[in-house]
Amino acid sequence: MWEARPPTYEDHMQKPLIIANWKCNPSTREQAEHLFGTIKRETKNINGVKIVICPPFVWLPSLNGLSLGAQDCFWEKDGAYTGEVSPKMLKDLGCDYVILGHSERRKYLKETDEMINKKIKTALKSDLTPILCIENISQLKKRTKDLLRKEQKKLIIAYEPVFAIGTGKPCTPEKAKEMKTAIKKIIDKDIPIIYGGSVNSQNAADYIKMAGFQGLLVGGASLNPAEFIKVVKNVARACPVVELRSLRDCAPKLF
Ligand code: PEP
Repeated sequence: MWEARPPTYEDHMQKPLIIANWKCNPSTREQAEHLFGTIKRETKNINGVKIVICPPFVWLPSLNGLSLGAQDCFWEKDGAYTGEVSPKMLKDLGCDYVILGHSERRKYLKETDEMINKKIKTALKSDLTPILCIENISQLKKRTKDLLRKEQKKLIIAYEPVFAIGTGKPCTPEKAKEMKTAIKKIIDKDIPIIYGGSVNSQNAADYIKMAGFQGLLVGGASLNPAEFIKVVKNVARACPVVELRSLRDCAPKLF
């Protein structure tokens, strides 16, 4: 259920997070409103999952009633930076989250680890929760450089192996779990870690039940409302809210 208040660390640790990355889609406001409205309507009675929708910047003002995130932000709060969007502006539009460091931004826009590190710091100052995408441990270390422990605790880490993004070839839950264990050795072990890469309704629950991830970052499947709603329902079914005080209760052997 959507609540008009900023998310807390406890929210992220108590319910599986399902974060939709719409990337550069859909092409019209009408389509964006329709996609958003369908997801909102069909998931309104599902309490055990926290849904965050990350549309392109331009559709943000047209959407409300589910938590919102942006897909990027700049590292300054304002100034002469043509084309950039600051965390403060996003907060003003009702965003609580921002995806940072997505591999497509490295590939197509040459975004560096240093830039991402600066973006995280500015996003935190504006009370946005960064969803930090990483493909490997080296990126994790560079992108979180100089963050205090209390700042680290405000992040969500998304493990997104590049071979799995948009390819239909997901990482197996077993392999993904190995990476989750490696991440926990580097960063505060209680930070929510989610998985992204070719998630669909068939495999979604496995990353939570079998591999102990705190949630999912869903790209392609989030543009198909029927498929995305099935992802949400399958995860909710895998972690019934009545039994769920934290994900530790959902998959106790994994922690
Ligand atoms: C993504 O782009 O973050 C992603 C996980 O994409 P897909 O689900 O399409 O692999």
